[in-house]
Amino acid sequence: MSGERRQDNFIETCERCHGRCCYEARPPLTRRRTRLILKHLDGRNSDAGFNVHVGRYSHPEELGDGYCVLFDRASGFCRVHPTKPETCVAGPVTFDIDWRRGVIEWYLKQEKICPLAGTIARDKVALARHLESAKQEILRLVEELEINELLAVLEVEEDDTFKIGENHLPQRILEKYLHSSTQEDTPARTPRSHMNPLGP
Ligand code: SF4
Repeated sequence: MSGERRQDNFIETCERCHGRCCYEARPPLTRRRTRLILKHLDGRNSDAGFNVHVGRYSHPEELGDGYCVLFDRASGFCRVHPTKPETCVAGPVTFDIDWRRGVIEWYLKQEKICPLAGTIARDKVALARHLESAKQEILRLVEELEINELLAVLEVEEDDTFKIGENHLPQRILEKYLHSSTQEDTPARTPRSHMNPLGP
């Protein structure tokens, strides 16, 4: 992990928002990511409160007010920023998978729900850099999740996004899907809804 650039420094933009992306976020946790987060917290003698919700896919527990258990209210930032989950690093870029076409589609949230989305949408260089990093994070996540977990993640609706690109899925990910028994039950999964597909 050392030396890996996961995300540009967007602190200036993100500190104006106070963690809206950490509200009802439920970022998927792979086993590897959970271990990295625990190690990070352990290094700070601060594993208190990191509980994992285990359901159709695992994610950090959500508190009663809807905020992620890893959100630090005092600072307004993530307690595990260097090791936070892949979708948290990728945001405001998000994704969907079209299994029939064998592609992974990239979406950007609208500025009204994420100020950073507006910032990078207006700066083509920043968008290109962030998208490249987001793709690496998401592809690693997609590869590491069990197929049933991935299918559950893909059922989560992503409102207020617009498509910014797509890539062919790596063959090994397609094969994971094709070889799973789960796909027999979900051969024609309806793509999750992306409201306002034409953008902001
Ligand atoms: S892991 Fe961190 S960045 Fe992700 S939702 Fe939780 S507090 Fe926010």
